[in-house]
Amino acid sequence: MTGKENAQRMEKIVSLCKRRGFIFQSSEIYGGLNGVWDYGPLGTELKNNLKQYWWQVMVRERDDVVGLDGAILTHPAVLKASGHVDTFTDPMVDCRTCKARLRADQLAEKNGVRQCPNCGGKDLTGARPFNLMFQTQMGASADPASIAYLRPETAQSIFVQFKNVLDVSRKKLPFGIAQIGKAFRNEINPRNFTFRSREFEQMELEYFCRPEQGMDLLAYWLKERIRFYEEIGISRKRLHVLDVPEKERAFYSKGTFDIEYEFPFGRQELEGVAYRTDYDLRQHIKASGKSLDYFDDETKERFVPHVVEPSAGVDRTVLALICDAYDEDSAPDEKGKMETRVVMRFHPRMAPIKCAIFPLLRNKEALVAKAREVQALLRPHMNVFYDEGGAIGRRYRRQDEIGTPFGVTIDFETLGEKGEELRDTVTLRDRDSMKQERVAIKDLPQLISSKIR
Ligand code: ATP
Repeated sequence: MTGKENAQRMEKIVSLCKRRGFIFQSSEIYGGLNGVWDYGPLGTELKNNLKQYWWQVMVRERDDVVGLDGAILTHPAVLKASGHVDTFTDPMVDCRTCKARLRADQLAEKNGVRQCPNCGGKDLTGARPFNLMFQTQMGASADPASIAYLRPETAQSIFVQFKNVLDVSRKKLPFGIAQIGKAFRNEINPRNFTFRSREFEQMELEYFCRPEQGMDLLAYWLKERIRFYEEIGISRKRLHVLDVPEKERAFYSKGTFDIEYEFPFGRQELEGVAYRTDYDLRQHIKASGKSLDYFDDETKERFVPHVVEPSAGVDRTVLALICDAYDEDSAPDEKGKMETRVVMRFHPRMAPIKCAIFPLLRNKEALVAKAREVQALLRPHMNVFYDEGGAIGRRYRRQDEIGTPFGVTIDFETLGEKGEELRDTVTLRDRDSMKQERVAIKDLPQLISSKIR
């Protein structure tokens, strides 16, 4: 695809997200809050499906991982020890012409001269560090002792609670602590829709191990995480692994891989998988004076565990799911004329609505009553949507556009009007093939459930 085609594709995706209720600009009626987004009804379902699946495979299906839900407000000492207070910065530059604040490492360059990407101006200030953390104040007094931060990552509460979790879970190395939650960064240039936001969610695992296991576990987690993206339906060909060169890695990291996705606006990071050695725990041991080490019963050794961290962004993954799912093909309209069909090809596991239920006609009481019965039957098993408005083709199209994988139509056959053998059967339509099959209502829960797990 050309740059122009990619830009058009992105425009269509952003507009669909708003039109169908996936993602809205936050505080939109007041002009919007830059870099902050609200998820609408469908976006919320999609995001929840993603988080639940991550939790399922990363925590519940494993013996060696437990969960944590840490606070967002963070003691300054934690972020001082982790290095965020002093070094969590981006280099910032001001354009003297249009007054834009810019990230120095994202400036355009023409013939070796730095340019403002906003106005093309060349009169730029030198770069100075800008701390990305949001600072707030706890309690009524405004003195420096009342400063707290909104966490810039979920990881630090895991390190700080390492000993407590170890004591209560009685886990042996290697084991991990997982967390899903909000993080905040005062990004200089929020952009590319939700890709770079100021408020976002992370799904992080800190997997603690013996030092000699670190490199093997880094390779292991990279593989696991790629598999995860495939399992949620992201095409492998649009995923890339960047082996981050040593000079670009944090000084304490012995190996870092970025898992990247080919968004319409370019190849960008979805997740970092990093071997962070024992840096984080050691920093907190030093700063707090408390022990955060591990005693191995068998070897009688006491040591500070190393850690491998797969750190993924919920919002970036949701955006990748949306970009990957967006497709256009053609389908016949009510009169049989071919028209463009927008279809979100979400993996059924991720789709916000799993099954739509349509009575063929809204003014036939018996059809409506049967459709409501089917709705009640499926509801305990999955998220369903009842729709009786408009021609059936239009109703299918509305569901295709939001990626509903299955559609059930209740018609006169269902009522037994075309032969007893068809009574209590419905048509089950597949979003991708648009094929319809006749199935018994009583088989629907099992049939659809097996395809959405
Ligand atoms: P980038 O280089 O893109 O700013 P990063 O390397 O600073 O990202 P990490 O600190 O490794 O990111 O955070 C882990 C994950 O959290 C990222 O891979 C990404 O998915 C997510 N993330 C980080 N910053 C943002 C943001 N501003 N908006 C949305 N997601 C983010």
